[in-house]
Amino acid sequence: MKFETRAIHCQHNFENASNVIVEPIQLSTTFTRDSDGHLREDAHIYSRLGNPNRDSLERTMATLEHGERALAFASGMAAIDAVFRNLQQGDHLLLPDDVFFATLQLAQTTLVPRGIDVSTVDMTSLDEVQEAIRPNTSLVWLESPSNPRLGICDIAAICKVTRTRGIHCGVDNTWATPVLTNPLLLGADMVMHSTTKYLGGHSDVLGGCVIFKNDDRLFETTHQTQRLAGAVASPMDCWLISRGIKTLYLRVRHQSASALQLATVLQTMPSIEKVHYPGLPCHPQHEIACQQMQGGFGGMLSIQIRGGEKAALRIASKLKLFTAATSLGGIESLIEHRKSVEGADSVTPENLLRISVGIENVDDLIEDLKNAMNI
Ligand SMILES: *Cc1c(COP(=O)(O)O)cnc(C)c1O
Repeated sequence: MKFETRAIHCQHNFENASNVIVEPIQLSTTFTRDSDGHLREDAHIYSRLGNPNRDSLERTMATLEHGERALAFASGMAAIDAVFRNLQQGDHLLLPDDVFFATLQLAQTTLVPRGIDVSTVDMTSLDEVQEAIRPNTSLVWLESPSNPRLGICDIAAICKVTRTRGIHCGVDNTWATPVLTNPLLLGADMVMHSTTKYLGGHSDVLGGCVIFKNDDRLFETTHQTQRLAGAVASPMDCWLISRGIKTLYLRVRHQSASALQLATVLQTMPSIEKVHYPGLPCHPQHEIACQQMQGGFGGMLSIQIRGGEKAALRIASKLKLFTAATSLGGIESLIEHRKSVEGADSVTPENLLRISVGIENVDDLIEDLKNAMNI
């Protein structure tokens, strides 16, 4: 079955005593035993350990990313934290130099004090990745497209390197979504999503998920962290994310088409210094993007404005359809001055605005941008 069919039909796998066509939300924190006092083998015991709505979301995520198992968490960061806890003293973690800002902060504040080495490298260069790998590297973490400059790394090529060296490779696939890229099919061991973004899709639920290629030790130890540390997604949150997934394909395809159109038009505008979008032929990794992303290049783009930070902030404040707010992946278009969120240590250019394209009519979005730029 094709993606959009699977996204609907793989969700019909719940116990259906009342013939509903929408899965019920099961808020119960505890579950009865059989009448003879025994636990059935697949029975739920207590909601932190597992519950019907989480099971359902995890099964759906595993199906959509072509993995064997999945684990749902309370946020994307909780998912990354659970993965990072697999690292031991003396290990080395390799991150992209433009990794999601909180991921780097998490590594620096929780791993470095535990005696784990953390370093960053430009993941768009395979040579540099190979040189940055150390004898003690145990995890390489990728992001493609990256934040906020939309760099594309060659997931298949990097996974080939990590595989031959026995290093785990994890991909934060939040921006590409499983609609456009399936890293497990390219050789990754695990995929992570901030389900807060495109999967939820409506800016009203936080969540994270890790999908594992195999039902192996890596899955088992992360599963243990999920159950014991307890940063789990609530039944209501799982239900909302599962609902979002039903329209994921339509949204992402529409958002990708609009983003490409916007990027193309923005390139010609005099107030724009640079457009970062992997769908543009002038993007430095456009060819890799064409191989790695199917059916579009995603709904995220960044622009650099002539006239520096002031001009960028002025344009952002004049827009009517693009709300100035952080986050991404929702049905409404958002714009954000990244440097001011990332703070003093950020290397993001001060004239950069990041855009999350929503599902509004693209001509209306273009009109809004033209008005804000006085064209
Ligand atoms: C938002 C985001 C995260 C963190 O997810 P939360 O749900 O906010 O915890 C991680 N990686 C990327 C690429 C993101 O966009």
